[in-house]
Formats: sequence, structure tokens, C-alpha cells
Amino acid sequence: MNKTEFIWVDMDGVIANFIGGMCSLYNIDETEFRQKRKEIGKWDGINAINKINKSDMSYDDLMNDICKTPDFWFDLEPLESGKELINNLIRNNHDIGVLTTVPEIGSKKARIEKRIWLAKHYPKIGRIEFAGGENNIKKHGYARAGIALIDDKPDNIVNWINAGGTGIIWDSVAPNFSKIGEL
Ligand SMILES: [Mg+2]
Repeated sequence: MNKTEFIWVDMDGVIANFIGGMCSLYNIDETEFRQKRKEIGKWDGINAINKINKSDMSYDDLMNDICKTPDFWFDLEPLESGKELINNLIRNNHDIGVLTTVPEIGSKKARIEKRIWLAKHYPKIGRIEFAGGENNIKKHGYARAGIALIDDKPDNIVNWINAGGTGIIWDSVAPNFSKIGEL
């Protein structure tokens, strides 16, 4: 018997390789990026990009560059550990959906491409919700008791738990499947 009623799975960094897409945009090696981000100790990758490329970009610059890149979201590679995660959840009879935040800059592009990406790679996932953008509902607006979120962003998990939900932090490079088994 599963303890949770419903599980929301994050998209970027859990099932879609956003870091891979971002690194190829700036000609950065993904392993180098992950290492630099760890060294800096900040989850936000903009500092790592700036360090590696000796640039001075802001988060908005990154989003503007993404906006100018045709099919950026659609072309993201599916993460292998994300496939395992989804298969694991379905095998264990969990009701699941994808809850993903879209940036304010280019939110329409992100929403359209993410929807097409999901239809291509995960056609069986019927429930998709977008937080952020002009929608103005934050991710944790969907949190409540019995509802879980699996997400790679620490702040999202903290906010989710504070809002009464069950949160599991996900590392696509070192996925923790035993935590998932507790849901
Ligand atoms: Mg994420």
C-alpha cells in the first residue's frame, strides 16, 4: 500500500537534462560544470558558467539565450535515471504527474516545447502542470499532505515540505531509489 496519494515529478534535472542543454549552449563540458558548481557550493548554475567561461552573465541573460535557441527545451536529452524513476513509480502503482516551472522570460516557448517533449518521451503521463511564468502559482502551491514532490532543486523541496507535502530531493547523477520506495 502506497503512503502517498499522488506524486509530482519535476522535469528539468530529473527527467530532462537541462544542464546538458545549457552546457552545450555555452560550449561547456557537463562534468566540468557539475564539478565547478559543487566547488562554488551554490545550486544555481549561473556562477559556474561565469567561472568557466570568464563571463558575467545574469540569470535573465541565460533565459534570453535559451529563448533565442530554437527547440531548446524540446531538444533536451531524457535522463536515464529519470526513465528508471518513472518506470519505478509506475511499477509501484503510483499516480504521477509532471510539475515543472517555466521561466518568466520565454514562458510560452517553454510551455509549448515542454508539452511536446513530454508527449514524445512520456506519452503515458497525462497530468502536467506548469508553475511560474505568468501563471504566478509557485510549485509549492500544489503541495498538501499526502502529495509528494520529487525535485532536484533544494529550495523547492524545502518550500514543499513547509507547505505540508512530502518532498524528496533528487540527484540524477546519484539517484536514491530507496527513498522513492518509502512513498
Ligand atoms: Mg529541476
